Amino acid sequence: MFHLDLRSIILMSGIMSLLLSVVFLLMQRSYPIVIRGLGQWAAAPVIIFVSTLLFGARGVLPDLLTVIVANLLLLSGIALIHVGSQRFFGVPLTWRFWMGAILATVPVLSWYTLVEPNYDARLLVVLFLWGWMMLAHARLILRHGGKVFVTRFTVVILLIQAGVIGLRFMAALLLPVGGGLFDGSLFQTLYIVTNALMILTLFVGLLLMATDRLRAEFEHLATHDTLTGVLTRRTLLDICGKELERCRRHGRTMSLLIMDLDNFKVINDTHGHQMGDRVLVDFVARISPLLRRPDGLGRYGGEEFVVMLPETSLEEALAVAERIRSTVESPVSGLPPVTVSIGVTCNRPDDAQVDVLLARADKALYKAKAMGRNCVATT
Ligand code: GH3
Ligand code: MG
Ligand code: MG
Repeated sequence: MFHLDLRSIILMSGIMSLLLSVVFLLMQRSYPIVIRGLGQWAAAPVIIFVSTLLFGARGVLPDLLTVIVANLLLLSGIALIHVGSQRFFGVPLTWRFWMGAILATVPVLSWYTLVEPNYDARLLVVLFLWGWMMLAHARLILRHGGKVFVTRFTVVILLIQAGVIGLRFMAALLLPVGGGLFDGSLFQTLYIVTNALMILTLFVGLLLMATDRLRAEFEHLATHDTLTGVLTRRTLLDICGKELERCRRHGRTMSLLIMDLDNFKVINDTHGHQMGDRVLVDFVARISPLLRRPDGLGRYGGEEFVVMLPETSLEEALAVAERIRSTVESPVSGLPPVTVSIGVTCNRPDDAQVDVLLARADKALYKAKAMGRNCVATT
């Protein structure tokens, strides 16, 4: 049978994990978007790499280093990956708990290394904690990662590794053979190779999760207004275009609202631009609950917003607009009073472009302003 050099395999996977660590660091430094947990994910491969160097020196350096310190470093590295994921998902960190559990292994590892050397007994302790951390990590990602391919991939890797660790644990428990780390048996070889490759693949999975988060954040930045969080003008108009096309094909109805805050310049001039910004944010927060899920709310520019209402007749749209108007009119403590004028229109069979609807809604808005503001109008 072909021979695998276990030390080389451990070393190579350690080096490749280090390269991924550099990618995590670069990602953390060179992107404007803050993705938390990258620092821990970058540090973990370094700690694990140092531990593999120590494991590799078994028989050369004292056992204190190659067994006890090496295992403590390995477990700390694994815990750090988990803590990185906790930061990534913004959940409370269990760093202290893991460190406590890791330090609790010191007396046991010391006993079975220095007093009564026993590889299988040490393995049981380390594997128990390692498997536990893998399962806790898989659970965390399953809970918070959403149903995305990359998170599923990472969970599968963690479960495979937990499975391998579980098998090795059962073997050490039921058939303690007393061989060492590099005893060359097929079972031990499979255990070491799978573990080394799974740690490497786990880092690939985490990297994919980070890039997916980055993509999602950039996508959000490109499609949402930074101040108020509603859709940007372009995104909303794209959605309106698609909805109008659907309406034309299926003979459906949609409505459009253009809302413009009244005398907003006065609010800015009297209370300052920052207060003006707060009024805009509060305006969105107060009207969002009045809309349904498929309705689109976008910032058309400055203090003007557009709402797209699919499957909505002119009468229904006028009722929505009136609800918005009266909600905005009611005072909010800590903010200057504000009112809104709203132009409402509904699609007509010959409307081919969103611009036509927008122009009509805009005309209705001017009418509302001319009627004295704080009112709803249609053409
Ligand atoms: P009208 O009732 O006729 O709509 O009067 P208005 O004062 O609201 O209209 P006008 O278009 O003259 O002024 C709009 C103001 O909105 C001017 C601009 O400084 C302000 N504005 C636009 N964008 C922002 C923003 O992001 N933050 C703040 N604070 N003000 C903004
Ligand atoms: Mg305006
Ligand atoms: Mg205005």
